Amino acid sequence: MEVRKILIIFCSTLLFASCKGSEIFGEQVQLLNFENKNKTVTLAEGALERLFLDPQVSDREVVIVSIAGALRKGKSFLLNYMLRYLYANYRSINTPDKVINEANDWIGDPNEPLKGFGWKSSTQRETTGILFWSDIFLHETSNGDKIAIYLVDTQGLFDHYSSPTDNIRIFSLSALMSSVQIMNMFNNLQESDLDFLQFATEVALFTAVDDESIKPFQKLFYIIRDWSTPDEYDYGHEGGNQFIKSFLKIRDFHSEESKKVRQYVQKSFDSIEGFLMPHPGKIVARNSSYDGRWGLIDEDFVDVMKELVPLLLAPKNLVVKTVNGVTVKAFELAVHMKQYIDLFKSESLPEAKTIYDSTLDSQFNILMSKSVEIYVQSIQLFQNNITVEDEIESLHNLSMAITLRYFDDEKKFGNEQEILSFRNQLIHKLKKAYDEWKPISLELLNKIKVEQAEADKQRVLA
Ligand code: GDP
Ligand code: MG
Repeated sequence: MEVRKILIIFCSTLLFASCKGSEIFGEQVQLLNFENKNKTVTLAEGALERLFLDPQVSDREVVIVSIAGALRKGKSFLLNYMLRYLYANYRSINTPDKVINEANDWIGDPNEPLKGFGWKSSTQRETTGILFWSDIFLHETSNGDKIAIYLVDTQGLFDHYSSPTDNIRIFSLSALMSSVQIMNMFNNLQESDLDFLQFATEVALFTAVDDESIKPFQKLFYIIRDWSTPDEYDYGHEGGNQFIKSFLKIRDFHSEESKKVRQYVQKSFDSIEGFLMPHPGKIVARNSSYDGRWGLIDEDFVDVMKELVPLLLAPKNLVVKTVNGVTVKAFELAVHMKQYIDLFKSESLPEAKTIYDSTLDSQFNILMSKSVEIYVQSIQLFQNNITVEDEIESLHNLSMAITLRYFDDEKKFGNEQEILSFRNQLIHKLKKAYDEWKPISLELLNKIKVEQAEADKQRVLA
């Protein structure tokens, strides 16, 4: 075995000797910090701005792939191979002019040390939080949609340094902000692992009331590391999906609680998938000086990793982020995130209903400001054509109709009553804007009239 590995490394070193190592351009950025001592969640405002308001990404739809799970179970290790895939297949804000070689082998040089998110840290964790990769990947779909791809690492879940409430907070925030939530598990799935989803599933209840087809979370992707019974369920996606399906199936012997959580998990996520991975080999698992190169990973593991990574990140598999069924752009997601974080600030968990209300609020705030912008643009466009007083009100009515049409046509969630209430708020806002704008417009009209009369007088005199 060892001889085979050495041979592979030797041959591949010759093969790749002339290749430049796969470069990465970025760093991990802490978006949230959970301070155990004071039980607070803090948002790094600068990081939020850097990640979501950069003009290169702010107006793009987003794909957010986040991984959660216990400490020292190879999460960051796997993310760094995902980074390698992203750099090989996409341009990024730091590499906007890169030429993408379609036929390239993304995994690169077998002797290249693994870089990216901090991995292989000691068992003493320093931070608990949510880390984003600062470089953001750019993708244009064939129908012209512009997409920004983010990779997210979480720290501190399930370990004994953080309380169960913190764990649920990290998981919920991660699930609320991502379009693909990976759960990185070890060996197997336990009944207690589902407890985690309890809160998420409570949130689902509120959204499910109005529209069964709209789920609060998108893709839940279970990866089980060091899977040891491939004869029962085989390594890879097919075996993983079968395993998850069987695990989530409601059975007679399940307690009421177990049945309920299984029911709600299905209601909370658009899709739930699984993936089983073999053990990566002794060197990866035990050697403290191992630098992450894939030439030293067991072949089985490399093979399934080559199946796994494109499954999550290939253009055709990207899952665009929606908030309760509505696609959001990067700058809009920043608004939602701020609101979520405010909710999670207190010592206790927010009520699921509060999350629903808050999401509803931020959705309508975004829609409201877009609508008002449309009203203002319409007024500005036709304002100079006004010649008589009556036309001021006509222009307001026309602009209001255009704006309400836009509001009605935009996809949104919420029940009829909630939507109607926001629509009325919008009408009120536009009327207020009209009340402010009308006297200015009248004044302008009178000024023009006076100037015109003066000009006419001059003409007659002349
Ligand atoms: P994280 O805390 O979950 O992010 O774990 P890291 O990515 O920092 O990896 C922790 C350790 O696990 C490192 O020494 C890796 O070499 C090792 N490792 C990576 N992947 C696997 C795996 O699939 N199985 C096992 N047993 N170890 C792994
Ligand atoms: Mg890690």
